[in-house]
Amino acid sequence: MDQGQLVPDELTVKILLDRVAQEDCKNGYVLDGFPRTIPQAEVLDKALTELGEAVDYAINVDVPDENIVKRMGGRRACVSCGATYHLEHIPPKTEGICDRCGKELVLRDDDKPETVSKRLQVYHEQTQPLIDFYGAKGVLKEVDGTREMNEVFDAIGKILG
Ligand SMILES: [Zn+2]
Repeated sequence: MDQGQLVPDELTVKILLDRVAQEDCKNGYVLDGFPRTIPQAEVLDKALTELGEAVDYAINVDVPDENIVKRMGGRRACVSCGATYHLEHIPPKTEGICDRCGKELVLRDDDKPETVSKRLQVYHEQTQPLIDFYGAKGVLKEVDGTREMNEVFDAIGKILG
């Protein structure tokens, strides 16, 4: 990591499994955003199998690309304090101005449509295949991510019991 290189999947999984071996994970845990590729999922699977464990559920929170581009495009961030807003969902009291510190709000490069589109392309190439991967194992659960945030949260909660 110090050399700015990618961490091998084996090391990532080892660090992850060390963490979830701790007391606060004894009733289970949720991995958010990992694995992101088939090779990562395979390494995770192998390591879990060696521990006599397995992934119970893989939850796909499904949101069409155009919704994601729209959502990200509505985000605004304060140049000074880092507070985040959304033009539709969490608008600032004064347009373009941070409620907290009064500084300017901007659309971050990460949230620009062209950046978001590039990330979606990577998602479709590398991450989307996991839907079939976990589907074939019979652990895939689908959640409609276009609904209100609390409804999505409740739907995930129901799956996890
Ligand atoms: Zn601010």
